[in-house]
Amino acid sequence: MAYLTCPWCLTPQLVGDESVEYACFTCAAQNAFFACTECGYRQTVSKRWTAFTCAKCEKKVDLPRRWGYSVGTPAMTVEGHGQPWPKF
Ligand SMILES: [Zn+2]
Ligand SMILES: [Zn+2]
Repeated sequence: MAYLTCPWCLTPQLVGDESVEYACFTCAAQNAFFACTECGYRQTVSKRWTAFTCAKCEKKVDLPRRWGYSVGTPAMTVEGHGQPWPKF
């Protein structure tokens, strides 16, 4: 199991290693995992976002309109959580 932080409410929770998405138990956000297209940093993002700010290189990264196993990255490889774009 991976222990991941929700990008909305910052509550950490357990997610199955093979999962590519999950719903936050605390705020019900639909989250998924995505690798930054600039630096490859794998992070949790909200599926409602159209883009996010990479937590590592701070670049804007566009998110896919449709999520699936081909675009996501499994929970066990996730290293952090992304921030909204534009940043709050
Ligand atoms: Zn949450
Ligand atoms: Zn990055």
